[in-house]
Amino acid sequence: MHTLTVETDTTLRGTSTNANRRSIVRIGTVEIGNGQPVIMAGPCSVESYEQTLATAEEVKSAGAVILRGGAYKPRTSPYDFQGLGVEALQILTRVSEETALPVVSEILSTDDIEVVAEHVDMLQVGARNMQNFALLRRLGQLRKPILLKRNPAATVKEWLLAAEYLLAGGNSQVVLCERGIRSYDPELRNTLDLAGMALARQLSHLPVIADPSHATGRRDLIPAMSRAALAAGADGLIIEVHPDPANALSDGKQSLDFPEFRSLMDMLFTRAPYSTLPSA
Ligand code: PEP
Ligand code: MN
Repeated sequence: MHTLTVETDTTLRGTSTNANRRSIVRIGTVEIGNGQPVIMAGPCSVESYEQTLATAEEVKSAGAVILRGGAYKPRTSPYDFQGLGVEALQILTRVSEETALPVVSEILSTDDIEVVAEHVDMLQVGARNMQNFALLRRLGQLRKPILLKRNPAATVKEWLLAAEYLLAGGNSQVVLCERGIRSYDPELRNTLDLAGMALARQLSHLPVIADPSHATGRRDLIPAMSRAALAAGADGLIIEVHPDPANALSDGKQSLDFPEFRSLMDMLFTRAPYSTLPSA
């Protein structure tokens, strides 16, 4: 097999790989990084038990293996919906038990680590908190998988050094997530940096997934970006799905409805890898 030679960087003590060694992160029975792409899907925000259960059942039957759902939401405006907090965590636990889907949800503050860790299988460090070193240090002490999103203005090196905080603390169950970087085009919420994603995967042994929802801000671009990310080596995808995106309490514009998610999954897993995308 062709092996790439990657310069070793001594500051990346825990994350770097020089022997094509790759880590697998286990969430329940799901393995991330074993060569099969893992699909995580669910609403941006947990809004109610019914909305979360309906979404979980739908994404599971379409092939997703991990449920996402925000309980604590980092919103740009303090006047926007901030998430249902503990109530959302309780909903996630109930839905997880009823559907047998493991759950990933965002941790915003060191104050909430205990309650979030008690209710979810994987803790997401959001883009805005990627360099919250106090939070990273505390999560390094935890023995639960972490999904570390890239900050939209972070270099790949800064992203890997953020992961290094978790590994240095002894938590090696880390999955990186490319969720778009800031560019100049207001038509796109962010720009999916596939080169940065591939570089992170090349420089480190950690699994790397892509978030085409936040990386575009537009549901119509999610199929193309999902395919591109998998073709570029992503170990999985995290995708926002809502029963009624037009009335979602957060990120409706980038959320797929149920038929859209199902057709995305069909396209990703039944079509030849480089065939042309359907026009609609
Ligand atoms: C989210 O996953 O809903 C989210 C807020 O993501 P990010 O931190 O990437 O913006
Ligand atoms: Mn969101």
